Amino acid sequence: MHLAPRRSLAAFLVFSLVGTLACGDSDRGIDMLGGAGAVDDARLANADADEENWLTYGRTYKEQRHSPLTQINEATIGRLGLAWWAPMGTIRGLEATPLVVDGKIFVTSSWSIMHAFDAATGEQLWTYDPQVNRAHARYVCCDVVNRGPAFYRGKVYAGTIDGRMVSVAAETGELVWETQTTPEGEAYAVTGAPRIADGKILIGNGGAEYGVRGYVTAYDAETGEEDWRVYTVPGDPADGQETAALEEAAKTWSGDWWQAGGGGTAWDSMVYDPELGLVYIGVGNGSPWYERIRSPGGGDNLYLSSILAVRASDGEYVWHYQTTPADNWDYTATQPLMLAELEIDGRERKVIMQAPKNGFFYVIDRETGEFLSGEAFADVNWATGIDEDGRPIENPAARSLETPMHVAPGPNGSHNWHPMSYSPQTGYVYFPVYEHSMLHAIDEDWEYDRSTINIGANFTYDGETVGEEMPMVGRLVAWDPVSQQEVWRVEHPNPLSGGTLSTASGLVFQGRADGQLRAYRATDGHLLWSFQHETGIAAAPVTYAVDGTQYVAVMAGWGGPEVLINMGLGDGATGPGRLLVFALDGAATLPEPMPPLPPIEAPTFELAASATDVEAGEELYGLNCWGCHGAAAASGGITPDLRRTTADVHAVFEDIVLGGQRAALGMPPFDDRLNPDEVRQIQAYVLSRARESVGEN
Ligand code: CA
Repeated sequence: MHLAPRRSLAAFLVFSLVGTLACGDSDRGIDMLGGAGAVDDARLANADADEENWLTYGRTYKEQRHSPLTQINEATIGRLGLAWWAPMGTIRGLEATPLVVDGKIFVTSSWSIMHAFDAATGEQLWTYDPQVNRAHARYVCCDVVNRGPAFYRGKVYAGTIDGRMVSVAAETGELVWETQTTPEGEAYAVTGAPRIADGKILIGNGGAEYGVRGYVTAYDAETGEEDWRVYTVPGDPADGQETAALEEAAKTWSGDWWQAGGGGTAWDSMVYDPELGLVYIGVGNGSPWYERIRSPGGGDNLYLSSILAVRASDGEYVWHYQTTPADNWDYTATQPLMLAELEIDGRERKVIMQAPKNGFFYVIDRETGEFLSGEAFADVNWATGIDEDGRPIENPAARSLETPMHVAPGPNGSHNWHPMSYSPQTGYVYFPVYEHSMLHAIDEDWEYDRSTINIGANFTYDGETVGEEMPMVGRLVAWDPVSQQEVWRVEHPNPLSGGTLSTASGLVFQGRADGQLRAYRATDGHLLWSFQHETGIAAAPVTYAVDGTQYVAVMAGWGGPEVLINMGLGDGATGPGRLLVFALDGAATLPEPMPPLPPIEAPTFELAASATDVEAGEELYGLNCWGCHGAAAASGGITPDLRRTTADVHAVFEDIVLGGQRAALGMPPFDDRLNPDEVRQIQAYVLSRARESVGEN
């Protein structure tokens, strides 16, 4: 969640193997699973040798996003051009990692819609629309995005915004099974890509900002039957905890934390190590954000902001490492998790690596959970370092927040969901870094209210503050995880940029907010190639091959957390979302870009409202509208910029907000939460913001 208190807009703003198994061959067992496109445990475990394909979210179980393909290389990249593209029918954010299985490419779009294409020609094979209840958008902090599908034994799997796990036939796109993974009607949403482990399909969920209890569920991939469920935070002690581990975790909490769920949602990263039989779960922030209103008697609040290792077979706790004890700043540890073997102090270690929101790069022994190293990769002021026991050395002012403080990084994190890649050739990890801060002011009167967000921030704070607002800058970095040092960086004109891909030909690909997809030399960051798209690119590129031709594919569409940070990115970064696919000598063309929107005009609608109404409207806007329509009523482009509301629409404002007149478009009714007078106050605030934008007020 990413939020700008008033006057601080800018502030945030792998089983052993089977050698080189060839799949999709004439083996009878494979045919039974659907012929070409059979992906079983052995094939997934050997995904790295499966050069032509991209079988799982992070390409292999290690999620290194490093491809052995070399046709596109420094000598040939000058010939790289658009081979084909497909419209995604949305201007909302696209975050999916495409999967490629034996000549077919599978993606997910906004509203959890699934698409399959011929990976060489772009011919559409099928679309499956899970018909997500549009009104559920109310419980989505950061756009109705989806980070991609999973593929297993002839079926494609995806989570849906309204909390379902959906399984469809890879050949036809017909529904095989679906199951509701979250309590219906509650403030959970699913945006993450499911993962396959030990014959099960794993899915987490989001919603910590609204006040829920996080968990991950494993389902039998064939039948959809629930196998196990792991809660990430303890529940109401009166009911008893589900496991002995949660009984222990409950000792690190105080007060009545369970009433607001506690948080700890696992909304993105999960990785599986088949040799160790462990699943690693990235756990999110607390609900509410602030320790002293969430757990007033202190404690580390396990397993918030932790890497949690559980047995793949039954979900039993094995170890945890908490990156941010007693999280106080929305510092999730849900960021991408990556497995590698690294030589550290003369000894090969099986490690798990993460660059979470809190700004420190962690290398952890993945067998034991032992902290090996952690160093800052961004400018942060909440902590000055990590001690030898792996605990942060905190800034007491950032902890207490007795006086509201500009804390860096802000809740968008020094690194967010954007996938990182690792080249075993260079030994570097490539990921985007974003420097920013946010003014954290606690709402001392916060009380849990299940109908709205529950972060506990004071949206209207306007007093003394501690600390300087950080300049917003952003870059692509190459990071050496052994020496824990940045090796090279490329600064970006707009600070926000996307996930990365590395290749055995020594290239690193990355998209950016300004619509550029770029390729760099992996050793030194030298720019080798770029392509300009109309919309920003946040998703990570993938590469694959069909019939001897190498392709690079990326979802281009700007939304997600990025558009909620209004930084004058404005309308330019948004526009029609597309799947873009490149190959040597590709010569496809795109339509002309959409023209920019005209300037905002002075509103003509008259509304009886006082200055007090406008002020009340600002607070109500912060609690109810900001998450989708943007800070200070300035939309990032995926939902209407309310300052542009015409007099005709102002005339039916109440019917839209309370009556659900635009529910089919994704604007849920708020009649259980707002009364007509409050709607009038919000409207007064929106009109006031429109007048401010044209120099009136
Ligand atoms: Ca969060």
